[in-house]
Amino acid sequence: MENFNFHVATDIRFGKDRLSELPEVINTFGKNVLLVYGGGSIKQNGLYDKVRHALQAATVVELAGVEPNPRIETVTKGAALCREHHIDVILAVGGGSVIDCSKAIAGGAYVEGDLWENLVLKRQYNGPAIPIVTILTLAATGSEMNRGGVISNMQTQQKLGMGGKNLLPKVSFLDPTNTFTVNAYQTAAGSADIFSHLMENYFNATPGTDVQDGVAEGLMKTVIHHLPIALKEPENYDARANLMWASTLALNGLTGSGKTGTWSCHAMEHELSAFYDITHGIGLAILTPRWMAHILNETTVPKFARFAKEVWGIQEENPEQAARKGIQALYDFFLENGVPMTLPEVGIDTEKDFDQMAQQAIAHSTISKAAFVPLQKEDVIQIYQASQT
Ligand code: NAP
Ligand code: FE
Repeated sequence: MENFNFHVATDIRFGKDRLSELPEVINTFGKNVLLVYGGGSIKQNGLYDKVRHALQAATVVELAGVEPNPRIETVTKGAALCREHHIDVILAVGGGSVIDCSKAIAGGAYVEGDLWENLVLKRQYNGPAIPIVTILTLAATGSEMNRGGVISNMQTQQKLGMGGKNLLPKVSFLDPTNTFTVNAYQTAAGSADIFSHLMENYFNATPGTDVQDGVAEGLMKTVIHHLPIALKEPENYDARANLMWASTLALNGLTGSGKTGTWSCHAMEHELSAFYDITHGIGLAILTPRWMAHILNETTVPKFARFAKEVWGIQEENPEQAARKGIQALYDFFLENGVPMTLPEVGIDTEKDFDQMAQQAIAHSTISKAAFVPLQKEDVIQIYQASQT
């Protein structure tokens, strides 16, 4: 296990009927609020009205219409609103896209000039930021309790992660009932993202991380158990609660600290989203089993065999056979839960961009140097190709 710091000071308010606490929470930071939300789901399910009611005493400016895969233009608009209205606190009500966009706005309000050049392309932001409070509506990204955000520039076909300690949400309201209206597709995509965050850290190059890996196995089993229930019964509180808390713990540093050589599939997926604007979790579900099959070798087999046994309950003596069965079990799980498992099914039916996408995946990340198995451009192209059928 490597040395690490673990200090994630987000105040989590988990559970139903807690919005009465919102006025006091907001008041801690000030009166001027930027309310950030997405394309309208919170208006349809009634959450918007409840939030506006709770904000009666505040001065509220709204930024609506944050896109899934949030765009730099929306960040720029939000940062300008913050400056113009002397915003004290950003209230992000939505999924990962709304929260990520709010993080970039929170820092961007203090950054001069072009925010793509001077904020996102820098990747690491150590400057000041407006405090962020979140009300999470989709169990997926973990953005509610981490420092990162992912912003897209469709003009340059880039989707990049950025982050900084001051972008960590101060308070996050996690009410599972706010996820009852998430449709089956987004519920499955969100669970695939949770699963991916766990696997990206689980398959790593550092030995001796049994605490982190054991926690990850438990969280993966939680998703395997509760996703089908949430799909069948969208208002099953415990299923939604377990998925929600799993999403938060999967990417708040708990299972990723103390390791190096992590993260491969997110870099490859970000290029799919940058070029084709697909749903993040679906792209990850498609790529991950192909990535696993691609990197299976003598060195990696033992970890995959452990994954098969501990996560999927596969009893198989031969380690390589066990590893292959574990990968198949993952693929089948996504398929059975309604995830389209090939690229053509999400509208990517040509190889024409694979070369450039692979080049960018390598350039924008560390996958060619510090991954479970480092990947070169040819590897990435082969993984994209294997994802076609
Ligand atoms: P999302 O893009 O925030 O939302 C996806 C869709 O779900 C939107 O159309 C949204 O509609 C809808 N939705 C959200 N809550 C809903 C509800 N309660 N009821 C009905 N519909 C609802 O999805 P996400 O998976 O949470 O976020 C994806 C983004 O996060 C990607 O850009 C991804 O790259 C990024 N990401 C970030 C991190 C991180 O650590 N920061 C990690 C992984 C991924 P409305 O717009 O109408 O609300
Ligand atoms: Fe993700």
